[in-house]
Amino acid sequence: MNKQSYEQKKEALLKEFKNKKGKGIISINKNTSNLFRSRQKIKKQRINVRNFNEVIFIDKENLTAEVEGMTTFETLVNETLKYNLLPPVVPQLKMITLGGAISGIGIEASSFKYGLVHETVLEMEVLLGNGKIITCTPKNKYKDLFFNLPNSYGTLGYILKVKIKLIKARKFVEINHLKYNNQKEYFKDISNLCKKDYDFIDGTVFNENEMYITLGKFIDSAPYAGNYKYMNIYYKSIRKNKVDYLTTKDFIWRWDPDWFWTSRLFLMQNFIPRLLFGKFMLNSNAYIAIRRLNDKYNLTQKFSLIKNFFKKTKKSEAVVQDVGIPIENCVQFFDFFNKEIKIKPFWICPTKSYNKNTFPLFDIDTEKLYIDFGFWDFVQSDKPTGYYNKKIELIVEKLKGKKSLYSESFYREKEFWRIYNGNIYKKLKAKYDPNHVFLNLYEKCVKRA
Ligand SMILES: Cc1cc2nc3c(=O)[nH]c(=O)nc-3n(C[C@H](O)[C@H](O)[C@H](O)COP(=O)(O)OP(=O)(O)OC[C@H]3O[C@@H](n4cnc5c(N)ncnc54)[C@H](O)[C@@H]3O)c2cc1C
Repeated sequence: MNKQSYEQKKEALLKEFKNKKGKGIISINKNTSNLFRSRQKIKKQRINVRNFNEVIFIDKENLTAEVEGMTTFETLVNETLKYNLLPPVVPQLKMITLGGAISGIGIEASSFKYGLVHETVLEMEVLLGNGKIITCTPKNKYKDLFFNLPNSYGTLGYILKVKIKLIKARKFVEINHLKYNNQKEYFKDISNLCKKDYDFIDGTVFNENEMYITLGKFIDSAPYAGNYKYMNIYYKSIRKNKVDYLTTKDFIWRWDPDWFWTSRLFLMQNFIPRLLFGKFMLNSNAYIAIRRLNDKYNLTQKFSLIKNFFKKTKKSEAVVQDVGIPIENCVQFFDFFNKEIKIKPFWICPTKSYNKNTFPLFDIDTEKLYIDFGFWDFVQSDKPTGYYNKKIELIVEKLKGKKSLYSESFYREKEFWRIYNGNIYKKLKAKYDPNHVFLNLYEKCVKRA
């Protein structure tokens, strides 16, 4: 079969859209997803956007790329690295797509320097609920859409093409892991280090006495290049090596083989399963497939009931969240987290937004450094559903932070619209999807429609 051009793909999509419009809510079919919430089974008309998955053009002179909206970062990075270029912010999991990271918020260890993924975007082509495809930029007549797509989760339109900035990369990344046992000092140093000339900064907290800041710097040559794609595990290496070297590509995907550390939930940190199945299991795509099976058959709860048969607390609650907390409130959040949630390890990622007051649906203070706390595990619980997740939502709001919406949320509707700028969102929804062809943000992110 001949490869379709982007224009041909658009034409076919518009035809499909026309046939489905007016027959209920429209949603998309794509190959991958990093959404972490099971969905209610409501009837939707699905349009197939799977083939919008290619890099169209890399402009090596002007350091930009034109990319189809459902292209995974793995595909994008494979292409850009051919020219020693990279997107400024590459989320850690290979299967995250460019459109998903813009509409669902994306960060990485370079976010202290370049902001969130959407801040690296120059232009987008978007399919609207009326069946039209428009181009929005920060300056044209659709600029309101451009600035409100981040954190809209496909409820204002689907991004089909993106023009994104690129940066120059080098062959290797030198890594330094600094160890801390004092929280105040830890966050103070993160803040200071973010003002220095590093390319990447993130952190891993194993417990309150063992916290690491990882500093990454591009270099042209290295004494060796580590390999954490099979029997060696990246997050464990943080405790062992003060200094380490990775190729730039392996650094970018350092968290992918073990899904940070969550591969242990799938027994993939045990020697035998790793040896036998590691070659094809150690990637986020495989974990996503297993997670889908889990959602379908509720395996975690079943295992939890068996495992805890003799214990008082038999059930567990999934606590899978990323929350951004202003730097000055991080110690307070850390204390709460240690006492109430107790998940270990957790991930730390300093993030700064550089565009003042421009992205209302994920509105964070541009004067401040935020720290993303990422935690993805289960908490033993006999409490009502959402008990621990709700506690997190309350403290995040109290500490003037912001929670990502890719996972479960338990906000009441009024509360949700207050936190995520409902007044602005509703105006945009009325303008760009007046017939409610796509779900709205609350329906999608909280009611899991
Ligand atoms: C365990 C875990 C760890 C994570 N870690 C990180 C991390 O380290 N860094 C990070 O940045 N993010 C992280 N995420 C969050 C992830 O970036 C978001 O969930 C992101 O939205 C996923 O993108 P996706 O391409 O998989 O989109 P999907 O999961 O397919 O979709 C997400 C939402 O966006 C909508 N959407 C998808 N494509 C488009 C499009 N082209 N246009 C408009 N809307 C669209 C979908 O309808 C859906 O509502 C993590 C998520 C999990 C579950």
